[in-house]
Amino acid sequence: MSDLGQSVLAEPMTAAPDLPVAAELDHALRNATPAEVIASAVRTVGRERLALVSSFGTESAALLVVMADVDPAIPVIFLDTGWLFEETLAYRDTLIATLGLRDVRSVKPLEETLRREDANRELWFSDPDACCRIRKVEPLQRALAPFSAWINGRKRFQGGLRATIPVVEEDGKRLKFNPFAKTSREQIAAIYAAAKLPPHPLAASGFLSVGCMPCTSRTSEDEDARGGRWRGRAKTECGIHTTKTA
Ligand code: SF4
Repeated sequence: MSDLGQSVLAEPMTAAPDLPVAAELDHALRNATPAEVIASAVRTVGRERLALVSSFGTESAALLVVMADVDPAIPVIFLDTGWLFEETLAYRDTLIATLGLRDVRSVKPLEETLRREDANRELWFSDPDACCRIRKVEPLQRALAPFSAWINGRKRFQGGLRATIPVVEEDGKRLKFNPFAKTSREQIAAIYAAAKLPPHPLAASGFLSVGCMPCTSRTSEDEDARGGRWRGRAKTECGIHTTKTA
């Protein structure tokens, strides 16, 4: 599946902090395969300082299988917001078993925060940015505390703010690796087919992108995959990629 180990890329280091300059690493990995990007992330910071963040959504298995080929023990952070579909929770468990993922960490919002700020579970409607902050952004901040770098599955073809993402970027004091930045929709589909990956249970019923229940709807054929997220609102991102994690 992956091209792990096909190349050992030179990674310029800075004296301080102890991480390479993101732009230089991005330049070195510009033409690397997704597996090479993940392997480089492991070499750069070490597995114990690296995490992959996955929503276990409709395209997540592609990144997870590439990661599992490189190292199935890389910690995987899953943000269990309290509003996820049961099908997504089941898909997480299916992929853990199918891919042999060894360290998936389901992270929830703090009960105290939920009681204080969303006691009636209506924040998603009245203030979705605040809802995403307490259910996604803050839990991710806490979950990433032990890590120096993280991997995620955004693609440029998703458009919007994602259209110009680099392969490696600076995220506060961390490095952020985007192994699928230049991967096409067809290549994602090819990874699914080659590895015989099970689809997300909701994909067959018209959900091209799956997030939280209240903020996810089916997409029509003429819409972008993420068109069903936060339908009717200007919001297109939950904030975990638009807020520095440190
Ligand atoms: Fe809340 Fe919706 Fe954001 Fe989920 S996606 S955290 S329900 S606003």
